Amino acid sequence: MGTTEEDLTLVWFRDDLRVSDHAALTAARADGRVIAVWIRETRDGQGLGPRPLGGASRWWAHESLAVLHQELSDLGIPLLFAAGEAAAIVPRLANSLGVGAVRWSRRYAPASRALDSQIKSVLRERGFAVHSHIGSLLVEPWTVAPQGGDHYKVFTPFWKAVSGREVGDVLPTPEPQSPIDPSLVESTRDCAAVTDLDGLGLLDGTGTGSGHFAAVRGPRWWQDTIACHWLPGTRAAADQLDDLAVGIDGYSSTRDVPSDANSTSRLSPRLRFGELSPRQLLHAAQTTRSVTSDDRAAWVRQLYWREFSWHLTYHYPDIDYTPIRSEFRNFPYEDDDEALAHWRSGATGYPLVDAGMAQLWETGWMHNRVRMVTASFLTKNLLQHWWCGEQWFWDTLVDADEANNPVSWQWVAGSGADAAPYFRVFNPERQRERFDPDGTYVDGWLPYPPAAAPAPIVDLADSRQAALSAYDRMKNFS
Ligand code: FAD
Repeated sequence: MGTTEEDLTLVWFRDDLRVSDHAALTAARADGRVIAVWIRETRDGQGLGPRPLGGASRWWAHESLAVLHQELSDLGIPLLFAAGEAAAIVPRLANSLGVGAVRWSRRYAPASRALDSQIKSVLRERGFAVHSHIGSLLVEPWTVAPQGGDHYKVFTPFWKAVSGREVGDVLPTPEPQSPIDPSLVESTRDCAAVTDLDGLGLLDGTGTGSGHFAAVRGPRWWQDTIACHWLPGTRAAADQLDDLAVGIDGYSSTRDVPSDANSTSRLSPRLRFGELSPRQLLHAAQTTRSVTSDDRAAWVRQLYWREFSWHLTYHYPDIDYTPIRSEFRNFPYEDDDEALAHWRSGATGYPLVDAGMAQLWETGWMHNRVRMVTASFLTKNLLQHWWCGEQWFWDTLVDADEANNPVSWQWVAGSGADAAPYFRVFNPERQRERFDPDGTYVDGWLPYPPAAAPAPIVDLADSRQAALSAYDRMKNFS
């Protein structure tokens, strides 16, 4: 090990791209000075590490990291970028910087936890202090269990067990530090994995074209469309936090109205990338006076749905491709590339589904009600495996989340822990009449003029019946 500066800490940023309410950063600054790193991680030979980012998330991460770089720089903290296997990079950097300690915010997907614990052991063996902190959840999965079991499978009892818990105060942004010798940072350039933000290649290969959309509008790049709808980074996130009341006001009655831009908070990418912590949001919601207690309670409950998704993800490795209800391993899904292509490109002939898929393509986000309808249509009316849809969402959502995405897909498909009953097949036409009665949402997003609407690719009644028969076949097989 090189010369060690006892008061210097390496803070490894991952899904926590912020400087306030950041326990690892605060603790590191209490000890002394900080150098930060963010790694574009490649999974190792054993498959350990986070799921590789999808296209829309890569764009978001790139932009958000640019802001974090500036925010940290304002505090005198250099942010290094590296690409490759974290198990090799983190110890090498700790050594070459001569830090006394390494800190990070904990993550909860089993493949990432296993990697983190390996890295922790290696660092400790080499004489570094290592500390991990809570940062992206209100309730860590191992701190809650039902009597006689090791985890909750149903949301309501989970929610009852955790909703009143004290979560502590929001931590302020640390004070700026005295400058770090630039030659120390320069010395890390010898480490092959270290690069600059552009060198991470997050924006490479994100251009794509999808069937109908590409045919109608020509190929384009994620960043050309999504960028018109979002401003990633902590500064825009802070503005959204200040305006939280807008997203909560009326929530209990309007949260299912997809045409209303303010019917939900649209904070999901902020949470996904940790530009805001759930604790900041909980505190802000609790102290927002201008909303009713019903609206506040309904919104906070959704924050805990996110916690529940992580609770399940922690307990079910491979949740992105293994059904929680094991009988669903035998579900007779069909393998129809053409149907999948129609769905992805918003050419099913059902306006609410097609409008939703267009909103996703254009903005990297889709309203929750429409996510449920499009997911039900794919898995039940088209009988395609939920993981085909999960993967498409993974690639196209700016809030694509290792927990919420697979858990929600499994919920809609019926294979999840607290899943919708299988016979609940959303009828996209009835959903449209109910939640978009004046057609504002569909008119705003439909990717074709109504007169040129494609013929519906399936009959709703027949395909519903086929789905229920497939479910019966699965039950008989199990
Ligand atoms: P708000 O309604 O303002 O809620 C505030 C926060 O609570 C959200 O940002 C989110 O973190 C959490 N939340 C709200 N609804 C849910 C829910 N049903 N389940 C879990 N957490 C919730 N959410 C993701 O964050 N990432 C995903 O990849 C994702 N994939 C989904 C896939 C499908 C098929 C479905 C049906 C839902 C998915 N969701 C996902 C959940 C939900 O649709 C989004 O969290 C929500 O639409 C985000 O919008 P918002 O921030 O305006 O939410």
